[in-house]
Amino acid sequence: KQITRHASTTVSRTAIHDLNANVNALVFTSPETTLSKSQDGPLGNIRVAVKDNICTSDMPTTCSSEMLRNFHSPFDATVVKLLKSAGADIVGKANCDEFGMGSLNVYSAHGPVVNPHNISERRSAGGSSGGSAAAVAAGICDIALGTDTGGSIRLPASYCGVAGLKPSYGLISRWGVVSFADSLDCVGIMGCKVNGIKTTFGALSQYDPKDPSAATPDTREKARQACSLAMKSYFKSDSLNGLRIGIPQEYFPSELQPNITSSLRRILDALQSRGAQIISVSLPSTPYALSAYYVIASAEASSNMARYDGVEYGSRVNPPPGADNTKTANVYAYTRSNGFGKEVQRRILLGTYALTADAFDNYFLQAQRVRRLVRADFDQVFAVQNPLSNVKTTPNPQGVHVLLHPSAIRTAPSLEEKEAGTSSLDDYVQDVLTVPASLAGLPALSVPAGLAEDGWPVGVSAVSQWGYDDLVLEVGKAIE
Ligand code: GLN
Repeated sequence: KQITRHASTTVSRTAIHDLNANVNALVFTSPETTLSKSQDGPLGNIRVAVKDNICTSDMPTTCSSEMLRNFHSPFDATVVKLLKSAGADIVGKANCDEFGMGSLNVYSAHGPVVNPHNISERRSAGGSSGGSAAAVAAGICDIALGTDTGGSIRLPASYCGVAGLKPSYGLISRWGVVSFADSLDCVGIMGCKVNGIKTTFGALSQYDPKDPSAATPDTREKARQACSLAMKSYFKSDSLNGLRIGIPQEYFPSELQPNITSSLRRILDALQSRGAQIISVSLPSTPYALSAYYVIASAEASSNMARYDGVEYGSRVNPPPGADNTKTANVYAYTRSNGFGKEVQRRILLGTYALTADAFDNYFLQAQRVRRLVRADFDQVFAVQNPLSNVKTTPNPQGVHVLLHPSAIRTAPSLEEKEAGTSSLDDYVQDVLTVPASLAGLPALSVPAGLAEDGWPVGVSAVSQWGYDDLVLEVGKAIE
């Protein structure tokens, strides 16, 4: 097996319950009897946790929301079907921020996830896939699926000291994954080692006709060929001769904790000594990416959240006696005010506003323009062409093959500060380094890069051109 296991194959569900007790990473544990029959597939006997916004027919899917507290999906998401047919043992559903909205896994109807790196310090596991990252870090599972809309895999991976891949948009099926912001949502994979992520990615990255945003078989093939050609030239035995690594200047904002850069520097020295070239590059639209992301993500979220009205979807909350029950709007209002947490409500308001006639041009369209500029920035610095682009451009010999930057601006923040409401932390700023790759749909992998001076994990992210997921994974292996 290529996948590193934490413990022997006999980790029982009781042991999982014990490991989970203080971490709160899993919100449901599957019974032992659900163990897949075909244990000889590529993921045979591998324990996998699945984020609770991915539909499973044999366990609830709550999205960590009161709204879906009692929801049981009648079907498995395509990724869950693929996991099962690859022989994986799906151990349970992982805690997350409500509907994937958040960066610290504190907006959850199941309570926050405690970072297992040092339980006694009670720090955040990151979000929104905090349960997935913490489950891997705590040894509850070997691999976990999460979703990443603006950084929700890479940020918790960085805080918990595990590896996390957000693949190119459209390579892994979103069918059966509860939508937050459709144009950004990606299912991704977390594990202790990049090899395990690679094997799982191989099993899940398949064309799914049920997902309208899936990359077509033709596009996949084109990207696969271009990527493997590039990789043949830069990954020769132990040498990285000819690999050009870009360091984007704009990824060192004032909010970055100073101890984060020393980890990156160490890694760059090691890669350079193996023959890689380090080049400073500029992605000038980066400072606008975060605002554009929050406008687009909230606009799409407000539209997606509209279906939870207590009539079509979601747990209905009837108005109290005496209220005007004849108005359906009252049922909607009671259902939505009780079922959604405050962060989800905030996004609905923000997104609805951005889509109103008054704000549309200045917010929504402007954010879409910024998104195009962010994409163009990336296309300009990469040596290889974007396989999704129809315009034939000449390859850029000065370009780079991969970008490296810190995954997060800091190590895991304390939960106490957050729970007491005294934190001066601006949650949204946590995503400043991860949203550009999301807006551009690019593959991005966060790998552990050692510990900062406070003794907590730091992550480094590798980002490459669309469809070059294998290259990002290979760079990740060279780093770990
Ligand atoms: N923290 C970001 C948000 O709240 C990203 C979330 C995600 O990637 N699911 O929107």
